[in-house]
Amino acid sequence: MTADIVIFTEFTSTTVFQRLLGAYRIATELRKHGYTVQVVDYLTEWNLDELKQIVDKFVGPNTLFVGFSSTLYAIRDQALSDKSRPNHYRRELRYTEDFPFKPEVSHAFITHIKQVNPKTKIVLGGQRSQYKNSKLVDCFIHGYADHTTVEYTHFLAGKPYDETVLQMKPINEHQIEIDWIKDPEWNFQTSQVLWQDNDLIYENEVLPIEISRGCIFRCDFCSFPMNGKDKFDYIKDSGPLKEEFIRNYEKWGITNYIFADDTYNDSIYKVEKLYNEVFSQLPFKIQFSAYLRHDLIHANRDMAPLLKESGMKTCVFGLESLNHKSALAIGKGLHPEKSKELLHWLRDEAWGKDITMSSGFIVGLPHETEETFREWMKWVEDENCPLDGYTVEPLGFNINEKKIWPSKFEANPESYGYNIVNKGVANNSFFRWSMWSNPHMTLPKAWAIADEYIMRGYRSGRIKPAGFFQFMWMNGTGLTADDLAGMSVRNVSADFLKDKKAEWFQLYKNRLFNL
Ligand code: SF4
Repeated sequence: MTADIVIFTEFTSTTVFQRLLGAYRIATELRKHGYTVQVVDYLTEWNLDELKQIVDKFVGPNTLFVGFSSTLYAIRDQALSDKSRPNHYRRELRYTEDFPFKPEVSHAFITHIKQVNPKTKIVLGGQRSQYKNSKLVDCFIHGYADHTTVEYTHFLAGKPYDETVLQMKPINEHQIEIDWIKDPEWNFQTSQVLWQDNDLIYENEVLPIEISRGCIFRCDFCSFPMNGKDKFDYIKDSGPLKEEFIRNYEKWGITNYIFADDTYNDSIYKVEKLYNEVFSQLPFKIQFSAYLRHDLIHANRDMAPLLKESGMKTCVFGLESLNHKSALAIGKGLHPEKSKELLHWLRDEAWGKDITMSSGFIVGLPHETEETFREWMKWVEDENCPLDGYTVEPLGFNINEKKIWPSKFEANPESYGYNIVNKGVANNSFFRWSMWSNPHMTLPKAWAIADEYIMRGYRSGRIKPAGFFQFMWMNGTGLTADDLAGMSVRNVSADFLKDKKAEWFQLYKNRLFNL
């Protein structure tokens, strides 16, 4: 049966079979308003012939639009199979057009949709919409689109729509864009994702779940649209959240979750309330991974046992740098000695080995030289460091006049000591970065250092599965969070993960074509 709306989405990775939430959140809103929606996941796994078959199956006279959720997809090419370049391939994937294919493939794919139904609109949402690159797109929807998409769909269906929410701006004769309007009438707190049978959920799959939206902080290098929100805003109400957990458990036995929440522990009030009203009230135990701020646990150590009791099995901190001046310059000012003490306390007393910990680190922050970075990374690389896993990335700038929500760094790089040498490197992408230099470092140098540390961490076995990857690697592999916690990334063979991912995708494919 053809659908009123078809949405393509995916999380690009060679080894991970993981769903992202956005497309399903939009689908839930549209379904609530009576529209039929088919979400098609793993977009870049399909070849052109298969994409055309999907169009033939789901696009028809009733199809109002075909949408693309663009936040985390990227071009796939032969770099994926180049095993000599374990860290570089990611960067090669990080150039983008509005579609994650070579231009001729995108053109043939979109042309086929228009041949099946010339009236069907092509809609691009997610992070890439702001760059408005492709002439193949009819409508770019920016920001959190839960509500604007519904109103746009009403408009396409010839139904009455809310003009205060839907402000369509022409870009040219053929294309429009729709800004994100915060509608006080729309209630995030009671919103849910109601997965349906045609979303093809697997038994025991690790699913994402939205706990809250936005971040109470405004770190200077970070550019999420809802940074700096008020402390208790945009947190899900306990009732709907509990319902969502129970529904997923009863339908698919799901107990493992990746929390979509920029800072899960942004207040003790929230951690306590969700424990008391949701996690301790469920008739089963859940396990989850979450983003945390370690400085907030330092400020309130009562959070630690609550997080463990709630079911947290792994967490990602954003320490970013153990150079105090550098961390202060981006708004993360806990003294490195206090950070280290806290991490040891979590490992040795509060959490033991029940919870794995990881953190992101950045090369190239203000005041950081190659020497200072190498000096403090010795502590991170040491086997006695309580962090199970870590990532190292170069500082990224995306200088682009079209960017709607630039970070403070991007809005004014000079004031932080950065010279943007070539902004064209990132002229159309969320992920690729503008070429920068500061008195101590350049982007190529920062890249090279980041690669060196990551490759060494993988090869030596120092980096263990922790954070979101610990949970993502459970999908389709039969491994549990505890199995993965005992391994090093080196022991989780990439070929094993790729094979398992291929098996799961084949199942998904069969089920989609059999709908
Ligand atoms: S880096 Fe993390 S804590 Fe800082 S603003 Fe971004 S999401 Fe929030």
